[in-house]
Amino acid sequence: MSESTEPGSYFVANYPPFDRWTAAAVPAVLEAFAESPTAAALGLYLHVPFCRKRCKFCYFRVYTDTSAADVERYSQGLAREAALVAEQPAVAGRTLKYVYFGGGTPSFLSVKQLEKLVAGLHASFGWNDAQEVTFECEPGTLSEPKVKALRSLGMTRISLGVENFDDSILEANGRAHLSGEIGRAWDWIKAADFPNTNVDLIAGMVGETLESWQRTVEKTLALEADSVTIYQMELPFNTTFVHDAKESGAVAPVADWATKRAWVDYAFNRFTEQGYVVSSAYTLVRDPQRVHFRYRDMLWEGSDLLALGVASFGHLSGHHYQNATHWDEYLAAVEAGRLPVVRGLRPTPRELLIRELVLGLKRGSLDVERLRSKFGIDPLKEWAAQWRALEQEGWLSQVHPGPVLSRAGLLRVDALLARFFEEPGTRVDG
Ligand code: SF4
Repeated sequence: MSESTEPGSYFVANYPPFDRWTAAAVPAVLEAFAESPTAAALGLYLHVPFCRKRCKFCYFRVYTDTSAADVERYSQGLAREAALVAEQPAVAGRTLKYVYFGGGTPSFLSVKQLEKLVAGLHASFGWNDAQEVTFECEPGTLSEPKVKALRSLGMTRISLGVENFDDSILEANGRAHLSGEIGRAWDWIKAADFPNTNVDLIAGMVGETLESWQRTVEKTLALEADSVTIYQMELPFNTTFVHDAKESGAVAPVADWATKRAWVDYAFNRFTEQGYVVSSAYTLVRDPQRVHFRYRDMLWEGSDLLALGVASFGHLSGHHYQNATHWDEYLAAVEAGRLPVVRGLRPTPRELLIRELVLGLKRGSLDVERLRSKFGIDPLKEWAAQWRALEQEGWLSQVHPGPVLSRAGLLRVDALLARFFEEPGTRVDG
C-alpha cells in the first residue's frame, strides 16, 4: 500500500465487498424475509440521512437542504418500513438485542420529530429488552431538552461526533460544529447520565499537525468518555475533497498513513496510561467489564441486522442486502408497501467464515475456537501461510493458540485483511 493518502477506500466494513452485491440477489433476500428465522441475534439499524452541512470527507448518503416536511415524510417512511419488516416471518416475534440510530445525523431531528419517529417505530418494534440503543449526535445540533429527551426515549449509548477540537481544522474539513459546541453538549450528556458515552475522533484531518492532535487527545481525555473511537482519515472517491481535487488537480493534503498510524499510536498510549483499554483497532474503553459495544460485537459475530432507511445495509439469515440508495426510490417503495431492497448477496459458508475472521481481527485477536465450532473449519490450518507471513512481517505477536495482532498490525489492520479475501471467480454459490 502506498504510504501517501490517495483517493480510495481503505476501511473494510464487510465481506464480500459491496461491489460484489447485485440486484439479481434481491429475490433471494425477499425469500429469506418470508421464511422462518435463524437462531442469530437480531439488531436494528436506522439511517437518518440529514446533516446541517456536508463534511468534505463524507461519503454517506446525506441530505443537507431539507425542510420539516421532508423530515416528516422520511420519518413516516421509516415507520412504514418498520411495520413492513416487523411482519415478515423471519422477523415477527423476535426480540431486538441492539438498536443503532446512525447517519447522517440522527440528532438533526427536533425533540418533537424524535418523539414522533420513536413512537412510529415502537408501533412495530419494542426495544425495552435491547441491551443497547445507540444514538449518534453532532455537537451543534444538541440542546439540553433534546439530550434529556434522548435519555427518556430509551437511548443507552450516546456517540458524539467530535472529530477534532481545533476550530480551523473543523472548518477546513467542512464540519458543521465548532469546538465551543462540544463542551456545552458534553455537559448535557454527562448530566443526563447515559449508561454509555462515546466520543468519535478522526486522526489526520486536513490541517492536522502533531501538536493539534495532541491537544485534541488531551481535551478528549478530559471528557472522561466511557469509550473513544478513532478512525484514520481516508479519501473515498465520493467525497467533496476528491471532487475538488479533480478540478484543481491537487489532492487534499491529508497526512500519510505512517503519520496517521503514529498519531493513533500516540492516542492509544495516552489513553491506556489513563486507564483505558484498547478494544479494537479503532476503540478504547474505560472499563471493559462494564462498557460494551453490542452493535459492533454482535454484528461482527454474525448477528442479523435489519436495515431501515435510505441506503441502509442489512444482514438477514445469511444474506447481505442494501436498501434503495436514493430518496425518491426509497420512499416510493415503502409508501407503496414494498420492502425497499435493491441489491444483495448470499455469501457462501466459506465467505461467512472469512467475514467473521476479518471483522474479528479488527478486535486485535481471533477467537479461533468460536470460528472452528461455528463453521467446522480450523482457521489456523486453513490460512496457515497467511498467519506465518503476518507473523514474520511483525503484524502478529502470536499465532497460537489464537492470532493476536501486534500494535503495529492493529494500526494497519484494514490493509492486512485483503490477504484473506478470495477472487470473485472462485466462489461457489451457497
Ligand atoms: S456529519 Fe457525518 S454523515 Fe453528516 S456529512 Fe459529516 S461525516 Fe457525513
